[in-house]
Amino acid sequence: MKELVVATKNQGKVAEFRSMFSKYDIEVKSLLDFDETIKDIVEDGDTFEDNAVIKAEAIASQYNIPVVADDSGLEIDALNGQPGVYSARYAGEDKNDQKNLKKVLSELKDVPESERTARFVCAVAVARPNQETFVKRGTCEGAIAKFPRGTEGFGYDAIFIPKGSDRTMAEYSSEEKNSISHRKNAIVKIEQWLQQLS
Ligand code: IMP
Repeated sequence: MKELVVATKNQGKVAEFRSMFSKYDIEVKSLLDFDETIKDIVEDGDTFEDNAVIKAEAIASQYNIPVVADDSGLEIDALNGQPGVYSARYAGEDKNDQKNLKKVLSELKDVPESERTARFVCAVAVARPNQETFVKRGTCEGAIAKFPRGTEGFGYDAIFIPKGSDRTMAEYSSEEKNSISHRKNAIVKIEQWLQQLS
């Protein structure tokens, strides 16, 4: 079985990647599986793609195996695309999901339903020893709810209503989320590479 490292310490993302990669017969490791402390990578790119490539290449140069990294976040139209690449630390450096979504709800408190459109974005980069890195983007369109609902998922899931639904992403089962999410839509675009790796 082939091995790859997913360059994240986010438990929610690791679970989603494991579940979505299971059909390719690939053993997925994450940064949580490495004993030694891995220095936090400075994500100073201006785009999701730049940050995904920075993370993937930083880890691939440290270990000699293929690395997949994602950079993802929420773009809200009424906030001119914010929180965007700052999604994880929107309410502060402690990267607190609850504080982040409260900040978004308070900024949108006077915005009517029809203007609460948003999308999750995910860029997935693949870095391999001695080969060129490539990066693909997936999105998931939706709108921001008035109040948080649901207990599944992570991050902004409790306030994100996928287009055409009346439930938030945190009211979706993991299987349902993984069939429509921005991460799934990016991973589909690296499928050919995943198949030849396994
Ligand atoms: P990253 O780890 O730098 O890519 O930060 C991603 C941040 O975007 C997370 O901390 C979440 O706040 C948000 N995010 C990304 N993907 C999702 C998702 O699937 N659901 C909810 N929030 C997400």
